[in-house]
Formats: sequence, C-alpha cells, structure tokens
Amino acid sequence: MRITVLGKSPSWQDIDGACSGYLIEEGETGLLLDCGNGVFSKLRRFIDYVDLDAVVLSHLHADHFLDLVPYAYALTYAPRQQPVPVHRWSGTDNPARPVLHAPTGASDVFRRVCGAWGPEDLIEKAFYLHEYDTREALDVGPLRLRFAEVPHYLKTHAIEVSANGSGRFVFGADTRPTDDLVDFANGSDLLMIEATLPRPERQGPRGHLTPEEAGQHGRRARARRLVITHFSDELDPEWARSEAERGFGGPVEVAREGAVYDV
Ligand SMILES: [Zn+2]
Ligand SMILES: [Zn+2]
Repeated sequence: MRITVLGKSPSWQDIDGACSGYLIEEGETGLLLDCGNGVFSKLRRFIDYVDLDAVVLSHLHADHFLDLVPYAYALTYAPRQQPVPVHRWSGTDNPARPVLHAPTGASDVFRRVCGAWGPEDLIEKAFYLHEYDTREALDVGPLRLRFAEVPHYLKTHAIEVSANGSGRFVFGADTRPTDDLVDFANGSDLLMIEATLPRPERQGPRGHLTPEEAGQHGRRARARRLVITHFSDELDPEWARSEAERGFGGPVEVAREGAVYDV
C-alpha cells in the first residue's frame, strides 16, 4: 500500500499548499482520504481524477471536504465526461462516478453548502454518496477500512486502512487527547497524527493536539512509524519534530506535500 501526502495544512492553507488529503493506492485501486481545500489540484499531479475509485471523509469540517465542490464540477462538466464528442474528447457512455464514503449527515451538509449558489445535489449527482456506519468495516477493492470515533468539535473518525500483504495505516483525523485513538492505533505500522497546536487551547473545549501530545499518543499506541501532520507552515517544522520526538521517545517524521510512504 502506498500513501501520498496531497495536503497537510490545517484549516488555512500553507503557501502553495492544500488542506487535508492523502492518496492511498494498492495495485490498481485508488482511494482519496479527505478532500480539503486545495486537494483536487494536488490529486491531479498523481492520478487522473476519473480513475479514482473512492473518496472517504474523516469528518465534515471544511478543511476535510471543501474540494469535493471542484471535483464534482469536473465530474459533471468535463468534456470527456459527456455522452457526445466534445472538442478532442470522443464522448462516453460510462462517465466516472467515484464512491464517496462520508459520515452520517453528509447529504444535508453538502446540500446546504452547494445550495448556497446553485443545485443542491451537485455532489450527490457527481459521486455515489454512501454514509458509512462506523461500526462496520468497508472494502474499497483490496483495501479494508475501519473506523473509530475520536473526540473533536463534531462527529469525527480515525480511519484504519489495511490490505492483504501490507501493513496497517492509521489516520488519526482531528482529535483532542484521547485513549480512543491510542487503543485504535495500537501496534499500527504507520500512524499519521495531527499536531495542530503550538500550545493547548486557552479556553473552551479542546479539539486538537500539540506535537508533543501527538508523540505521546504514538508512544502509547506503540506505533512503528509516526508522522505528524495538519500543522501550519507558520510553525517551525523542526520545532514540531523535536517536540513530537520528545513525546514519542524516537524518531518522528514531519508530513510534507508529495511525501510517499510504503506500508
Ligand atoms: Zn482539520
Ligand atoms: Zn476538524
């Protein structure tokens, strides 16, 4: 299984960056994990968007799904998706329509977002929308997905992706400190974990981790490899790495766009 970082920014993009998005490939199967703002353009560097099998969303914050909008426009209006020849494209009876696995309530959210300016079913017509049940595993070709709810500002899921003959990849999504993620990621081969905050939130409920907390979660989960993500380019990545390594007790990698991990 190969994982490519398409975007690692938090809720505002790095310079030339993208928010949450990871391409997971196994054989001929392609899965996009999260589709935050900026991700559609990055995706196109690595795979033709009509060849992607499925998208899965960890939660319904803007930085994890907003680029479904341009993706849906491409699937709807691209000349090669039309039934008749257009320009240099010959036309197709089989336009691409990837599966979109999203948390419950996604249909309502997409309708409110797209309905703000046009047809509210833009996303649902472009993709096969499936609202997943977190208690059940999902298969995307040879990839098996499992979910665990983690505490954040709205319903959010850590996602495990595994395949026969490859290791276990766990994406921690956005989360405040929690044993739920430690348990779910126990013994994972690669844990991709958020390290959003330069220091814990000053007020209100917590929703994110500092790099040191991210490292501590990795240590307690006994992850074989730890990668921190979802932090801004306005923080020093070497500072974040050393904080995370202090918590982890070993080497930690810092996500950067275009980085590839084989698990
Ligand atoms: Zn986020
Ligand atoms: Zn979030």
